[in-house]
Amino acid sequence: MPNMKSLIDTLEIKGTLSKEEFVELLSGYTEEDTEYAREKAAKTANQYFDNKVYTRGLIEFTNYCKNDCYYCGIRRSNTNVVRYRLSDEDILSCCEQGYELGFRTFVLQGGEDLRYSDEDMIRIISSIKKNYPDCALTLSIGEKSYDSYLAFYKAGADRYLLRHETANEEHYRKLHPASLSLQVRKQCLRDLKAIGYQVGTGFMVGSPYQTADNLAEDLLFIKELSPAMVGIGPYLPHHDTPFAEEKQGSMELTLFLISILRLMIPNALIPATTALGTIHPLGREKGIMSGANVVMPNLSPVSVRKQYELYDNKICTGEEAAECRFCLQNRMHQIGYEIVTARGDFVPLQ
Ligand code: SF4
Repeated sequence: MPNMKSLIDTLEIKGTLSKEEFVELLSGYTEEDTEYAREKAAKTANQYFDNKVYTRGLIEFTNYCKNDCYYCGIRRSNTNVVRYRLSDEDILSCCEQGYELGFRTFVLQGGEDLRYSDEDMIRIISSIKKNYPDCALTLSIGEKSYDSYLAFYKAGADRYLLRHETANEEHYRKLHPASLSLQVRKQCLRDLKAIGYQVGTGFMVGSPYQTADNLAEDLLFIKELSPAMVGIGPYLPHHDTPFAEEKQGSMELTLFLISILRLMIPNALIPATTALGTIHPLGREKGIMSGANVVMPNLSPVSVRKQYELYDNKICTGEEAAECRFCLQNRMHQIGYEIVTARGDFVPLQ
């Protein structure tokens, strides 16, 4: 019987394991092992960030998407979604409200919406940065060309989130239609890094057909990419997708992977995701206690929130931004953490 604790010790010391060791760990861990990793991860997060939790104000500005990912509730083929786009004024008013609530990072997230030209994005990015020069701006708008990424960066975007979803070709094919490719996605991530963005990637835990082998490849890909941010959440099915009948991912494994990621990249910004809060009422608290250090409350207008449902039963679709902000503040307070008003940039290790 392999000793999982010694693998966790090795991970802490070396920041990684071999693929075989990761597979061994992910296939044979016990509850006691997750607690062992959790304690180490929480201690590491504490060394780097104290008890501080950074917030990102999420603005879901369009739910149109040209893609058809099999797991996604707003995929092109889902004709039951009421589609929307926020106007420039709407977006700026989300920022205004967010700024007053103490947010110093805004995340502009949307489907891959062909209606927005590069010029449109540059206009939106520039106006946010002009109005809020002390805030960081994160984009999460999918795959673009190097030149577009560069233009957005020059316009003032600081960070970019693009989950790789799975680092295994075969698994990627099972989650996406033929029009999407893992090679392109990886190239996008490399382009973003080369340009100078603080880059975030990540994956769903327990997505259909995922194996321990796939997860080991995800972890090794992340180690190689060395991103500033890593977002993972349990896979949650959406009723209007080809994966409607698939099983949801596991919260316990997601938490264990958060701890593993913290030990791999001690200074990373790791969110306790909304999907974690959806799978369990205390999911985000558990995420923070497992080594995460970011929460991402929603700043989108309440009138459109229900329309940005990537998976079923997403939480916080009915509350105003201020309610979400204070709810999270209380939740963090209850577990001994503190939400701070700061950009929360990635700080490279010396
Ligand atoms: S996961 Fe993203 S790219 Fe894929 S369909 Fe959903 S919004 Fe579009």
